[in-house]
Amino acid sequence: MENTQANKTVLVTGGTGFLGIHIILQLLHQDFNVKTTLRSLSKKDVIIKALQQGGIEDFSNLSFYEANLTEDKNWDEAVKNCDYVLHVASPFPAKDPKDENELIIPARDGALRLLKVSRDAGVKRVVLTSSFAAVGYSINNENHIFTEEDWTDSNVELPAYIKSKTIAEQSAWEFIEKQGHGLELSVINPVGIFGPVIGGITSASLDVAVSGILKGNLEYTPTFTMGVVDVRDVADIHIKAMLHPQANGERFIATSEGVMSFYDVAELFKKERPQYTSAIKILEPIGREFYKEISNNKARTILHWNPRSREEALLASADSLNENF
Ligand code: NAP
Repeated sequence: MENTQANKTVLVTGGTGFLGIHIILQLLHQDFNVKTTLRSLSKKDVIIKALQQGGIEDFSNLSFYEANLTEDKNWDEAVKNCDYVLHVASPFPAKDPKDENELIIPARDGALRLLKVSRDAGVKRVVLTSSFAAVGYSINNENHIFTEEDWTDSNVELPAYIKSKTIAEQSAWEFIEKQGHGLELSVINPVGIFGPVIGGITSASLDVAVSGILKGNLEYTPTFTMGVVDVRDVADIHIKAMLHPQANGERFIATSEGVMSFYDVAELFKKERPQYTSAIKILEPIGREFYKEISNNKARTILHWNPRSREEALLASADSLNENF
């Protein structure tokens, strides 16, 4: 392969996360120099093991920095000499905490801290991992096709995670407008992220919607429908948004085609992977929400992003998790 990226350095925050590890894997396969932050360097071995599972043998292009989103310490070192920053880290717990600030403060202040140090270090572009949470929670789903024009209203009562992602993204755009001084920003808004687990690194989306269903742990079948996207495609869209000239100043929804209810997910697993599904005890939902429509047209058109199907993403999760049952 032509070695075109060898002189470009990228910081990926949150290397211990489900999405973070897939982004690092793709960047290393594409010959970028990669720096990553983790809250504790003791988790370095988990990252190395996962990357080895993903086919990386040479780690000379990867370095590690200990940094927390709520503290200034070490961020200057982490962004030093970086061309790009992919700010992926943000708290994503399976259950909302009692105090919403446990999520809002690291999400918002972490994003602002990253933008500030990136601007001061002369980084070209930051790509922020936001969420569909910042897009689609204030508008009636009926007859509405969600696009990047839509925003969740953070001034009304919302679950803490949804609020944290909305406030963090709003604050980031405001920073760029008022204090960016030429720093570029592009934002990715993924729906529920699934796809293969490497090195045992999972996330709340997989723990609830894949392990929860396969192990029969869910008390009831939630009535909402969700968009699904494969983690490999979310990693790919971050890299595309990092490099594409037209991605500057834009947000991109990352979703495969269509949405699914938990009932649909259980049905898919029962049909396609009957060998894993003896524990499933999903009942028909009591009432179904409207199947919302979410457009991925902008990412397809501008970034030439071509995601896998939602079925492929979910089955890849089930297959990779199955060895742990
Ligand atoms: P994840 O596996 O839980 O990753 C979250 C990452 O953030 C971990 O590396 C975690 O580090 C780090 N983090 C949390 N709080 C931190 C803090 N105070 N300081 C430094 N690092 C901190 O979840 P994920 O799915 O990969 O999420 C990655 C990003 O995608 C997040 O921004 C999330 O909001 C967004 N997203 C996820 C989904 C989804 O369905 N998974 C959908 C849309 C958007 P530790 O390992 O130390 O906890």
